[in-house]
Amino acid sequence: MLVVQKYGGTSVADADRIRHVAGRVVKRVRAGDQVVVVVSAMGNTTDELIDLALSITPEPDPRELDILLSTGEQMSIALVAMALRALGQDAVGLTGQQAGIYTRANYGSGRIARVEAERIKFELAAGRVPIIAGFQGVTDEQEIVTLGRGASDTTAVALAIALGADRCENCKDVEGVYTADPRLVPTARRLADITYEEMLELATQGSQVMHNRAVELASVYGIPVLVTSSMVDAPGTLIHGDPEQMEERNRVRGIAHDTDVAKITVRGVPDKPGIAADIFEPLAAAGVSVDTIVQNASERDLTDLTFTISRKDLKRAESLMTGICSDVGAAGFAADGNLGKVSIVGVGIQTAQGYAARMFRSLSDHGINIEMISTSEIRLTCIIDAERVADAVRVLHDAFELERAE
Ligand code: ASP
Ligand code: MG
Repeated sequence: MLVVQKYGGTSVADADRIRHVAGRVVKRVRAGDQVVVVVSAMGNTTDELIDLALSITPEPDPRELDILLSTGEQMSIALVAMALRALGQDAVGLTGQQAGIYTRANYGSGRIARVEAERIKFELAAGRVPIIAGFQGVTDEQEIVTLGRGASDTTAVALAIALGADRCENCKDVEGVYTADPRLVPTARRLADITYEEMLELATQGSQVMHNRAVELASVYGIPVLVTSSMVDAPGTLIHGDPEQMEERNRVRGIAHDTDVAKITVRGVPDKPGIAADIFEPLAAAGVSVDTIVQNASERDLTDLTFTISRKDLKRAESLMTGICSDVGAAGFAADGNLGKVSIVGVGIQTAQGYAARMFRSLSDHGINIEMISTSEIRLTCIIDAERVADAVRVLHDAFELERAE
């Protein structure tokens, strides 16, 4: 089988781990599989490079910053390729450009436009293991662009699609996707499998297991992704789109949490067409991305509107709100920067009875106040105090009996 294996920063954090990864790849190749490897930068290299740039200037030029950040993954490909050769396995490190990964859009947030995979195929045919730098590509003008934090996962899925691989394997320092973060819930259980939809919701709602764009891409092309350990031999969690299994299901599969939530409430907003656009357009223009939005039914033509954003964007958003309020004729605004969210996810939970009630009751039984609620077809999310997020995850894991085998 042809497989694309991705190893994250923790899995290649030092020389020993790199040798260990090389050993696993060699074993796989000797077992008869064709392997293409995608790697992230070692450990915290990307953070360190960003800090280094910030120590030169508070606003590094985005183009030069991308050139700098792309070197993190380049270190990894060279070292992993060396480690493979040291084990007697021919291998070749390829930068995003050499691997034919073409991107569009902006520095720091590029999107993969296409993969010209001839070079990779050539190396494979010659018996060499291609080791590809994740998180980077080039524009048609050969400008280096990075793909956004954590986006090596996306590189791996895009390559699996371009190569027609049998599957993508995301090799991590955890053994798969769990019912909740095992660091918070000791009884959290590894899931044998999960659907794209469920994984996408978990990833978007704060689960760190896989980059949400990678899941989205895998889902569009129907490429199976196995999340598994880079350290030990483990069965992992298969992410797939098997509709039959989805119909069977009617329960909570996992809990995601995120402690990075801030909230802004705009009071006394005139209830007329165009107001919401007037509020959100300036925020979007300033690069503030808005998550949950709740608008109350209006009384006497005035309404309150509440929305959440990432805490890191709060200062920027607040600085715009005074102007926005006077532009739309709102009474004023209030901000709270210390919130988090907890979500239950599972295909079928919206159509089934009682999930919402059980979630709200369990939280209230433990004195956890719900500030906002949002839902999708397969998710229920409560915005709560950041300090209570860990408790809430444990409470809900118990309430929905997620420790029990399916
Ligand atoms: N090295 C990049 C980051 O830390 C990409 C990745 O790890 O996926 O964001
Ligand atoms: Mg990283």
